[in-house]
Amino acid sequence: MNDLTNLMTAEEIWETTLAQLQSTVDKQSFSTWFGKASFSALEDRTFVITVENPFVRDMLEKRLTETVEGLLRAQTGDFETTVAFRIKSDRPSPEADPTADESLTDRPADRFSGDVGSRPSPARSGNLNPRYTFDNFITGSSNEFAYMACKAVAGGRATLYNPLFIYSGVGLGKTHLLHAIGNEIERASNKKVLYVTTEEFTNDFIASLQNRENVAFREKYRTADVLLIDDIQFIIGKESTQEEFFHTFNALYQLDKQIVITSDRPSREMITLTERMRSRFDSGLTVDIQAPTLELRLAILKARAAKIGKNVPGDVLNLIAQRVQTNIRELEGTLTSVLAMADLTGRPLDRDTALSVLGSIELSSDARPVDEILDVVASVFGADPEAILSRNRSKTIALARQVVMYLLRTEENYSYPQIGEFLGGRDHSTIIHGIDKIVGLLKCDLRFQKQYERVFTRLYGTDAKMGETGK
Ligand code: ADP
Ligand code: MG
Repeated sequence: MNDLTNLMTAEEIWETTLAQLQSTVDKQSFSTWFGKASFSALEDRTFVITVENPFVRDMLEKRLTETVEGLLRAQTGDFETTVAFRIKSDRPSPEADPTADESLTDRPADRFSGDVGSRPSPARSGNLNPRYTFDNFITGSSNEFAYMACKAVAGGRATLYNPLFIYSGVGLGKTHLLHAIGNEIERASNKKVLYVTTEEFTNDFIASLQNRENVAFREKYRTADVLLIDDIQFIIGKESTQEEFFHTFNALYQLDKQIVITSDRPSREMITLTERMRSRFDSGLTVDIQAPTLELRLAILKARAAKIGKNVPGDVLNLIAQRVQTNIRELEGTLTSVLAMADLTGRPLDRDTALSVLGSIELSSDARPVDEILDVVASVFGADPEAILSRNRSKTIALARQVVMYLLRTEENYSYPQIGEFLGGRDHSTIIHGIDKIVGLLKCDLRFQKQYERVFTRLYGTDAKMGETGK
C-alpha cells in the first residue's frame, strides 16, 4: 500500500473516517480533538495523523485510538490497520505560535484551522456542494418554515427576507439549505453566489491584515450578489472580525444583495455580539429548525436507504428513527453503520444487527454520575463542590464550574437547560459562554490542558469510550 495512488486512497479513507467521527462525536469535542488533525502518511499499515500539540495527541491516544482504528479497519478491510497520532514538527506559519500576533486575533479560537498567512482564497462558485439541493431536502412540521423561506429567497421573490437568519441545533439541515439556495440561484441565473463558513471569513480577514491585502479581501466579499455565511456563532468574541463583517454586511445590504446567515443559536443568545450587529441580524427574517418528529426521521431514513439502493426492512428503520432523535447527520450515520455492520460481518440486515450498533452508540453515554464529575473536578481544581454549585464568583471556582459544564455537555450529552438546572439554575447563555471558554483554553493553555487531562483520566480512565463496535 505504498505507491502514490494508494496514498491518495489512504487520505480519502482518513477523510471518510473524519466524516464518520463527526457524526458520532459532538461538535465541540470534534473541533477540539480533530479540528487540526490532518493525514500525513501511510507507514506500512499505520495511518499517521498529525495533530497540533502533545495534549491533543495524548487525549486522542487515550480515548479514541480504538474507535478510529475500528473505522479505518472497516474501510481498509485489514484488521491490522492502526493509527498513530503525532505532533507537527515544523510549524513555520505565524499562527503556530500561540503567543504571536495577539493583536490580530481576538481569542484562541481565531487561530483555529487557520490558513492564516495565506491570501484570501478567491471567490469561486465551485464552493457549493451539488449534493445539497431543495429536491432532496425532506420537510415536516419542524423545518417547513425554514424550507419555504429559503425557497423564497432562492427564487428571488423575497427582498423583504434580507438577511435571512436560520438557526437550529447541530445536524438539522442549515448547511444543506444554504447550499440548496446557492445551487438554485446558480442554476437559474448568472448571479455570483459566495458560500463561506464563518471560519473561512475570519481566516481570510486575518490573512488580509497580515498581508495588507484588504483590496483582495473586499473584492472577494463585496462583489457577491448572494452571500451565504454558515455558522456565524463562531464570530462570537472576535471583535475585529465582527467589525469587518458588519462593514461587509452593510456594503452588500445597501446594494440589495441577498445575505443568508446560519447559526446554532438565535442572535439574542450570541452574548458578546455587538448590539448593532445583532440588530442587523434581526432586521430581516429569522427562522428556526426544530428537532425532527418521528415521521420526519423515518421519511429521511427511507429516502436515504432508497438512494443507496438498499432494501432495509421497516422495523430496522423504525428502530433507528426511534433511537436517534435529535440530529439528522447522526441519524444517517447510524443507518450507514448498520449497513456496514451487516456488510462486513455478513450478518442479516435485521433488528438484532441494528441493535448491536445502537448498543454501542448508547455506550457513548454510559454516564458518569454527575456528582462524581463534580467531585473529581472539585478535587483537581482545589475547589469546594458546594461552592461550584453556588453563586460564588471567584476565579478558580468559576473555572471549575465551567469544566463541569463542558464535561456534562461533551461527555454526557446534557442539554444546556439540563446543565443550567444541575448547576443551580444558570441560564443558557452562561452555559454556552462557559463551554466556549473551556474550548478556548483546551486549545492553547498548557497548564489548563494538564489539569483537564487529570480530571478526564480520573473520570473515564484510559479507555476509549466512544463508539466501540464489534465487541
Ligand atoms: P447543520 O448545518 O444544521 O449542522 P447539515 O445541513 O449539515 O446540518 O445536515 C446534516 C446532514 O443531514 C446532512 O447530510 C444533510 O443533508 C442531512 N439533512 C438534514 N436535514 C435534512 C432533511 N430535512 N432532509 C434530508 N436530509 C437532511
Ligand atoms: Mg452546518
